[in-house]
Amino acid sequence: MSDCIFCRISRGELPSKRIYEDEDLFAFHDIHPLAPVHFMIIPKQHVDSLAQCTDEQQAMLGKILLLAPQLAAEQGLATGFRTLINTGSGGGQEVYHLHVHVLGGQPLPAVKSLINKP
Ligand code: AMP
Ligand code: ZN
Repeated sequence: MSDCIFCRISRGELPSKRIYEDEDLFAFHDIHPLAPVHFMIIPKQHVDSLAQCTDEQQAMLGKILLLAPQLAAEQGLATGFRTLINTGSGGGQEVYHLHVHVLGGQPLPAVKSLINKP
């Protein structure tokens, strides 16, 4: 059994502010929110990142993307939200258990303004 932090959160072994759970997925608020609403959707099955996904994860990935707007609406994000998946060191990933960030609750800057070009 994996001792990865998000595996442990999805098993209820570590505390989290859970907002959703079913047999495949778990969603919880980010501990360091970057917007008024900031939660993550993760698969219960461990996969390091999007780069490790194969056809085997196709249904799970689709399920996450369909769940995102449903949970965003439940969290009050009526005007929209941002989804974000960081992949690998080059993508700024810090926790190596696939997760989809969902952020909103304030006007978010255009993507082009997020990257500081050297
Ligand atoms: P990433 O850079 O995409 O890997 O993002 C990892 C995210 O996990 C960060 O936004 C962290 O704030 C968040 N995080 C780390 N540990 C926890 C935790 N125990 N509970 C909730 N969120 C966490
Ligand atoms: Zn894990």
